Amino acid sequence: MAHERDPGADLRRIAFLLEAASEPTYRVSAFRRAVATISRLDADELRDRARRGTLHELPRIGDVLERTIAESLRGEEPVYLRRLEATGGRPVAEGADALLAALRGDCHVHSDWSDGGSPIREMAESARDLRREYMVLTDHSPRLTVANGLSPARLRDQLEQVAELNSELAPFRILTGIEVDILPDGSLDQEPELLARLDVVVGSVHSELRMERRLMTRRLVTALADPQLDILGHVTGRMVMGKRRRPPSDFDPEIVFAAAARFDKAVEINSRPERLDPPKRLLRLAVEAGCRFTIDSDAHAPGQLAWLQNGCERAFLCGVGPESILNTGPADELLAWAGGHESDGG
Ligand SMILES: [Zn+2]
Ligand SMILES: [Zn+2]
Repeated sequence: MAHERDPGADLRRIAFLLEAASEPTYRVSAFRRAVATISRLDADELRDRARRGTLHELPRIGDVLERTIAESLRGEEPVYLRRLEATGGRPVAEGADALLAALRGDCHVHSDWSDGGSPIREMAESARDLRREYMVLTDHSPRLTVANGLSPARLRDQLEQVAELNSELAPFRILTGIEVDILPDGSLDQEPELLARLDVVVGSVHSELRMERRLMTRRLVTALADPQLDILGHVTGRMVMGKRRRPPSDFDPEIVFAAAARFDKAVEINSRPERLDPPKRLLRLAVEAGCRFTIDSDAHAPGQLAWLQNGCERAFLCGVGPESILNTGPADELLAWAGGHESDGG
């Protein structure tokens, strides 16, 4: 049997690392208060409660704390602690900079073909100036009329223009793509044969965000199971600032992230300051589920391409390692990964 660890010491270490990572005070104090709570019990009672699963009956001990204390008493390094140690209490800015430097491309970029403000060429040249090797052009799909979504005919025209630009801008590459609406039934808002021609497909929910939990879960899982979809864009649809402020949509994150991992689809870390999606709690769950990620700007203007820094900070804080971020690899690896989804689908 493994030697038991000191749960109080593990909880204090967690609080320390959360503080070092600039996490909010309420999260840090939850761990410190739990230390106080368990220090009032004698060791036998603590062990007994851990065995019987009754730690959560104690004041201010929730599920996460119960699990963490029980792991510690079993002599295992708590999962929560291990994840924090992975970032080594390193300053956030430094960790985020390292991730940013590792990113070779951006998988979610708009142009003035839909609701972006600049031509494709300007977005591409700006991305190249930021030393990126590629960007995926992901304008909106037909039903998002408010964002001037592209009809099949316009998307076909866009593909021709991208081919021309690519011959001029090489070695920089514009990969073809779309931000396709995930419709309420989980299907994708573009002709399947056209989606199959694109290099990378980002799928996002832009309508009926307040759908009931069970239905939203099914909607997202259906989209993830679609062989055409590669990346799940801004998964909760929340807006954290501005006039359009809204809460995250409701779905079962364990089911959705398990599906993403199962189908080897990426969960997008959306870097727009008003989105910052997924929220950190969900991002940590996605890491635990073994998901892979892309860190995307969702830029609608050239300066917004720099927003990848936001996503890198969050990825670092939540223990997303560079090896699980698809846009740290060269474009050809991204293409091979995305192409694999269609062949898996038969
Ligand atoms: Zn979107
Ligand atoms: Zn977008």
